Amino acid sequence: MERTGNISIASENMMPIIKKWLYSEKDIFLREIVANAADAITKRKKLAELGECAGEEGRITVTTDETAHTLTVEDNGIGMTEEEVEKYITRIAFSGAADFLEKYEKSGDGIIGHFGLGFYSAYMVSQRIEIFTKSCLAGAKGVHWESDGESTYTIGDCEKESVGTRIVMHLAEGEEEFSKEHAVRTLLGKYCSFMPYEIYLNPKDKGEDKPVNNTSPLYLKAPKDCTEEEYAAFYRDTFFDFNEPLFQIHLNMDYPFRLKGILYFPKVRDKLNLERGQVKLYCNRVFVADNIKEVIPEFLMLLNGVIDCPDIPLNVSRSFLQNDSGVRKIAKHIVKKVADRLTELFRNDRARFEKCWPDLQTFVKFGCIKDEDFYGKVKDLIIFKNLAGEYVPVESTYCEEEKDAEGNTKEPLPVYYVSDPDKQAQYIAMFRGAGKDALLADSFIDPHFLSYLEYKNPARVRFLRIDADVDAIREEGEKDEELEKLFSDLLGEKGVTVRTEKLRDGSVPAVINVSEYLRRTQEMGKYYGYGAEEEKESLTLIVNTANGAVQALKTAGEEEKKEGAKFLFLLALMNYRTLKPEELAEFTASAARFAENFLKTK
Ligand code: ADP
Repeated sequence: MERTGNISIASENMMPIIKKWLYSEKDIFLREIVANAADAITKRKKLAELGECAGEEGRITVTTDETAHTLTVEDNGIGMTEEEVEKYITRIAFSGAADFLEKYEKSGDGIIGHFGLGFYSAYMVSQRIEIFTKSCLAGAKGVHWESDGESTYTIGDCEKESVGTRIVMHLAEGEEEFSKEHAVRTLLGKYCSFMPYEIYLNPKDKGEDKPVNNTSPLYLKAPKDCTEEEYAAFYRDTFFDFNEPLFQIHLNMDYPFRLKGILYFPKVRDKLNLERGQVKLYCNRVFVADNIKEVIPEFLMLLNGVIDCPDIPLNVSRSFLQNDSGVRKIAKHIVKKVADRLTELFRNDRARFEKCWPDLQTFVKFGCIKDEDFYGKVKDLIIFKNLAGEYVPVESTYCEEEKDAEGNTKEPLPVYYVSDPDKQAQYIAMFRGAGKDALLADSFIDPHFLSYLEYKNPARVRFLRIDADVDAIREEGEKDEELEKLFSDLLGEKGVTVRTEKLRDGSVPAVINVSEYLRRTQEMGKYYGYGAEEEKESLTLIVNTANGAVQALKTAGEEEKKEGAKFLFLLALMNYRTLKPEELAEFTASAARFAENFLKTK
């Protein structure tokens, strides 16, 4: 016989609120219902171990019906008696949800989706829900419960052969999506991939069907039992990325908190890939969210990974997570593990580390800028290529304090770097010729990173782009006022400063220098969008008194002098940047005239 009861606690007001609150992530209802099914199986297993009921291999079946617009989740778990349904489903759940709303309505910081609203979250998509259940206890009868989730329910006996619970969600208008197999498959993939019991979607033949989930995900295995192939396969299956990751870190700890997971280092070479990482957070194998920055430091989001942390208080708000010392410890632990793994690779397999470095450097440098602790842990691993193509550790080579004989800190020598080997080829050649070295810093993150190193090592390291000055490649020599005047008269109005120097390499008539400070300020301006539209270049022309053509200028006729000087300036300029059209026209015309004169004298 069916009877009718009233759902207590102003529940008429509650459902609209639940629906509104959870709206943006309503698909989590499926996770809640399937997680309840898994819990029910675990409970039955425990009872069976105690000999209080018969055991059975746990199994969850999800069925979609596009015609009837229903979604059904069935388990062979513990089941419920009529009293239990009233107690757990009707009373507890409603009051639990009401409590919850009372408590969190005010905080309102939009942490949609991690409330554990459980069973009632299914009303976000259902107009009516039926429960068919049979307790595993001996002599239990089938129970049928049904409610539209507004304020009343009906409960009574029903025929049910097997032990367990079947939840039938009659989908609301507009939610028919959830009766489509492919949509439900996607959701199960997102939320339930690692749940501990096999989940079947619309099974046809018991023998042939494959579960949609992986009941023993690799991250739960002891690291020593995992092979490289298994790591690679788990990566492919979890992230659908067919690029091999560089390597991985297997996290596995029980104390002082429980944390298991695998973090993969993907290849990150450019900005485009910067935002591509995905760290999935699980709580007892139930997917919670991607990229929760309170648990996983922001820079680690470049990684791909799975983290399962049963101790994270997930059904509370994010602002709580931020202030939770346990969560902070977890974040710290993860950062430490990442640093340890990098250090281990650096120390034990330098060749592999160097091979991975081009793909790894963005992540490491970004991490240093974002997190001082991380910088402190990995600074010795940061390497740059020198002009000979060998990797040099920048910290120990350049950032350490040096003392002179009296124990005073020595003024650091500038460290030169190349930001674009093609454009700076002339300078590189001159550095090589003078037996000087420079670092290759051509990654998009390097300008920021070098500034960061300077900031972390004040007065200990100073970086200069290879075209910032000629201090490393010149010799002592008198300045040549005549030449300086000649060039200054020609270029002064362009705002070009002129200086003469005796460079070691006599083959180069002149080079352009740009002050490091000015250039950085301009680049910064461009980066942050406050730079002037048409920037002044602030170039310095270094005229090389050791060069034959430069010396020849002095004895040339008035006109030739001017044209020659202009030509040598353009020659230097084109080794610094691309010539503008009018500059190129001028250069070409002069070059043609010089060629003619040269050929005529032969
Ligand atoms: P929570 O799971 O957070 O306790 P729910 O509203 O999801 O809240 O569920 C309330 C209770 O209903 C559960 O604690 C459980 O006792 C019972 N329950 C829900 N689903 C099932 C199920 N599939 N099998 C057995 N019991 C269930």
